[in-house]
Amino acid sequence: MLPIDPNNETAYSFVVFGASGRLALSKIFPALWQLYRDNRLPQGTKIFTFCRTHLEVGTYRIKCVPYMGLSKDRDQIKYNSFWSNVHCCQGMYDSPQDYAELTASMVRQETRHNMSLANRIFYLALPPIVFDHVTLNISRKCLSMTGWNRVIVEKPFARNELTYKPYQTQLCQTFKESQIYMIDHYLSKQVIHNLFVLRFTNHIWSETWNNKHIAAVMISVKCEKPVQARADYFNQFGIIRDIMTNDMMQLLAMLTIEQPYSNYVEDMRDEKLKVLKQVLTLDISDVILGQYCNNGVETDPTKVGYTQHAYIPKESLTPTFAMVVLRIKSKRWNSVPFILRVGKALNETKTEVRVQYKAMECDRSENKQSIPNELVLRLSPREQLFMRMMLKRPGQELCLRETELNLMLRDRAVPDNYQSLLLDIFAGNQMLFMRTDEQCEIWRIFSPVLAFIDVERPKPLLYDFGSSGPMAAYEMAARNGFIFYQSDEWHARQGMANTSQNASKEAIKAESSRAQQATPSWMTPSAMGS
Ligand code: NDP
Repeated sequence: MLPIDPNNETAYSFVVFGASGRLALSKIFPALWQLYRDNRLPQGTKIFTFCRTHLEVGTYRIKCVPYMGLSKDRDQIKYNSFWSNVHCCQGMYDSPQDYAELTASMVRQETRHNMSLANRIFYLALPPIVFDHVTLNISRKCLSMTGWNRVIVEKPFARNELTYKPYQTQLCQTFKESQIYMIDHYLSKQVIHNLFVLRFTNHIWSETWNNKHIAAVMISVKCEKPVQARADYFNQFGIIRDIMTNDMMQLLAMLTIEQPYSNYVEDMRDEKLKVLKQVLTLDISDVILGQYCNNGVETDPTKVGYTQHAYIPKESLTPTFAMVVLRIKSKRWNSVPFILRVGKALNETKTEVRVQYKAMECDRSENKQSIPNELVLRLSPREQLFMRMMLKRPGQELCLRETELNLMLRDRAVPDNYQSLLLDIFAGNQMLFMRTDEQCEIWRIFSPVLAFIDVERPKPLLYDFGSSGPMAAYEMAARNGFIFYQSDEWHARQGMANTSQNASKEAIKAESSRAQQATPSWMTPSAMGS
């Protein structure tokens, strides 16, 4: 990415509202510091905090230390100079006068550098309750007249379709769409960019990206940790609102859109909106909810059941796991199930998309099928992009084995999620940010099910802490045609019913029998000899 403002002609003010909170400390300031350290922030950037708590730069910088990733030998001088660009303002969110003082402080810094242009970014790291006051006061008191203004909003973007409407109206009355950045943490990854290149510039994938070839898609966000930070918020909103109705739906839209007319952001967003409009409203019969419980063996006091945490009400029915099956009514995607799976306190931490292709019938005479191709896009813990496919085993015999075609080249460091999103905002690149009408469609898809959960309070299925979630979810995925491979947790769970020794023997037997099954008869030595 080219440096922003290489000639240092413009002043940038970056205001963090709610700077006393967790998000500012643990994510925003570390990202700003790391960009500054690596000379990626525009040189004329000044950072302002605004909150009710009285903050002082000297003490605030100490509070930030654990999150900053500092290196003792390398960073000391630069770290000092970073903080010389930070200014703290105290204020009430509903006091216009306090916003006027913030603006005066910004103007002082902007004019000090004798720059004729001043751009301003307002990051709302705040709970939704103060959202209206803050957007209104920014628009009345804080906008720059000599440059652009941009506002960053954090999820939750309301609770449902009904509460989103006033949220959207308020946001769009005070800012234009081109000024609004609804931030989302998953999508800045290189792997998503690569998906686009893969799909739209390669014959293999552009021709097969449809229901003729693809059998099922699963998007997973699995987390080993239990609910800890922001437990109040989580308990009120639940796992579907926390992850599915924003991050995961953005992934789904990116996977399924038609090729945009051009590379312009609005063309891409129009295509995302189009495909979201084609997603059928979710039915409760396509939903499995779970809640983790004590697994009976764990001795760590933090690894208990959800309702056993001291900070969670004992009678809470909030789901900590959800699997839903979405369907898209379009020529391209009719009949392909899109399975979204998300959960806390699971057996592993990973975010990935698995696109499973239909099986090839390569042995028609005995009607055996080979193992289908699978494209895996892993976003975390490591970025990976690979294709599962079949090859011949080494040796004389013609016998097939599964292998992976690795498609990811990591030849340079990429900035982390927050850093690259902030850089996009400075550069005015909205490609990876949702437009407000996209979120509206997402609420349309989920609101009936969310209303059912809120009103009827169905009991979630219990699953053991550290397991892969309720078995019923995996049965639902299997019913929808999603195949779990040997190495996946599905098989591990099935194996757990046996002793561990038996399980590993079974696994080896299953692997060799699959390899044999997958070897078409026309490839066996006897067939070749005849
Ligand atoms: P906090 O709850 O820590 O709130 C941030 C600041 O907002 C507080 O320090 C406080 O500042 C002010 N505030 C809190 N409650 C109120 C209130 N009732 N009325 C007025 N001001 C209040 O939130 P986080 O920092 O954790 O997150 C900020 C936003 O980002 C939230 O919307 C959250 O949902 C979202 N988010 C957070 C993530 C995280 O990892 N923390 C992840 C994803 C989204 P003061 O009293 O000093 O004014």
